Amino acid sequence: MANDAIADSVYDLIAGQDPDAAAILAAERERQATTLELIASENHVSPAVMHAAGTCFTNKYAEGYPGRRYYGGCVHHDEIELLAQQRACDLFKCQFANVQPHSGAQANAALFLALLEPGDTFASLVLADGGHLSHGLKVNLSGKWFNPVHYPLVRDESSPKFETIDYDEAERVCVEHKPKLIMCGYSAYPRVIDFARMRAIADKVGALLHADIAHIAGLVASGMHPSPFPHCHVVTTTTHKTLRGPRGGMFLTNDGELAKKYDRALFPGMQGGPLMHIVFAKAVAFGEALKPEFKAYQERVVANARALAEAMTKRSYRITSGGTDNHLMLVDLRARDAELTGADAEQWLERAGIITNKNGIPNDPRPPRVTSGLRLGTPALTTRGFGTKEMDEVAGLIDRALGSGGDDGVLAGVRADVRALCERFPLS
Ligand SMILES: *Cc1c(COP(=O)(O)O)cnc(C)c1O
Repeated sequence: MANDAIADSVYDLIAGQDPDAAAILAAERERQATTLELIASENHVSPAVMHAAGTCFTNKYAEGYPGRRYYGGCVHHDEIELLAQQRACDLFKCQFANVQPHSGAQANAALFLALLEPGDTFASLVLADGGHLSHGLKVNLSGKWFNPVHYPLVRDESSPKFETIDYDEAERVCVEHKPKLIMCGYSAYPRVIDFARMRAIADKVGALLHADIAHIAGLVASGMHPSPFPHCHVVTTTTHKTLRGPRGGMFLTNDGELAKKYDRALFPGMQGGPLMHIVFAKAVAFGEALKPEFKAYQERVVANARALAEAMTKRSYRITSGGTDNHLMLVDLRARDAELTGADAEQWLERAGIITNKNGIPNDPRPPRVTSGLRLGTPALTTRGFGTKEMDEVAGLIDRALGSGGDDGVLAGVRADVRALCERFPLS
């Protein structure tokens, strides 16, 4: 059980009134405390951020923006939103921030509404190569109401750039299709993004350049990944992945006109009242991210990812593109066992208390519900205090589970060792 006295008293409060809901909460706390969280898009927020997300700011309607609200009583909502904006600008060294998007996908939907007309063309990475569904999936509004064209990763196995972004092909695709907007920033890409190169392409075709730094925001904020500024015109992100804030989204830019367009598109274009309790928690999380400890944390996230990639390679798994520069990696399971699928791997690992997600690898011959890969990330384990030494231990546990063939006895043995490891690194 997590060692957080406030969470305990919140639990008692709820249990006194609603034992059914409280029982589910207790089980989820227990799950998080006793399993290894390797999903690259997840993290454990600090107790301050956790409890900031559950304050009286949830009671208020604050439609509009600071100084321009549609409801009375917003004095403190103005104060906290301005503080969150200011801290976001300090973190990412830019001039304008909109902290109201409810999530990363909402932040992107508002971007389309702000910058494109229905039917307009935009460019993004081939989704199966690591892009996000909000970057042009056919059933997402980005793919339904707009016209996505895609650039791929390098397919040539003999190239030293194998499985990294094919910038030459991106240029060719953009010259051919003349997109109004070019998107970069991805959900399963382990390498550094060359924003300057993407800007050269955007300038050549007269497009706006957008970076979706949902995954790498914490790395960018601490200088562990190059900043999208000054190259990108507009930036969106989530706040809950490497940035380790509450679940939410955000928009950033240095262009005052684009900032105005975006603000209007988000509200009243798309959203109603902002989640002010989440805006409050964003401010608290950004305050944490501005501290030196946050940079040290991100350095450990990246060092741990490298160590985990090496430990998996040592056990004869293949890491796509040959390794990682950031907080995540894609593991090609076929190198270890030609029959092993991502779907089986995810399931066996979960039975062993190791939480991951199956993920297609570039050019995956298997369908998306099966896949040949696993995506692994280190942000959550690093928050718990895991270091590079433990990464070898984690890789060993993963390998034992994946070598089990799904055997109950073997998986139960790994589960016990996972519990013991978690006890050495309690959640705060
Ligand atoms: C996670 C992610 C999003 C979406 O964030 P949600 O908060 O889940 O809507 C958007 N873009 C990228 C690149 C992501 O990885």
